[in-house]
Amino acid sequence: MALFGIFGTHTVDLCPLNNKTSAKTMVQMAEMSADTTNNRSKYGINKIIGRYHSALEHTFIWIVEAESAHQLEKFLIDIGSATFNSSKIVPLINFEEVVRKGTDALQK
Ligand SMILES: [Zn+2]
Repeated sequence: MALFGIFGTHTVDLCPLNNKTSAKTMVQMAEMSADTTNNRSKYGINKIIGRYHSALEHTFIWIVEAESAHQLEKFLIDIGSATFNSSKIVPLINFEEVVRKGTDALQK
């Protein structure tokens, strides 16, 4: 299981705050992604750790523990996110792991 950040953005005119179609899709996204059993079996998502949005930047970051970026790509398409958001799926490690690698590097 790996950690991924989903970094997303949309235009002002497609923002759910300004666009009823996007708002409807966003509600659908929330409902569909709440099914943890389906997330696990169909998309390899073990856990959605956090989802944070910046309303005026029209950006968001979701942190998820999942099996693969390709399955996350399919997840974003299937729940409707891809209809109004551009997204980057980035592999992440936690800070403690970075510190451990740095400590190891200092000992070489
Ligand atoms: Zn927005």
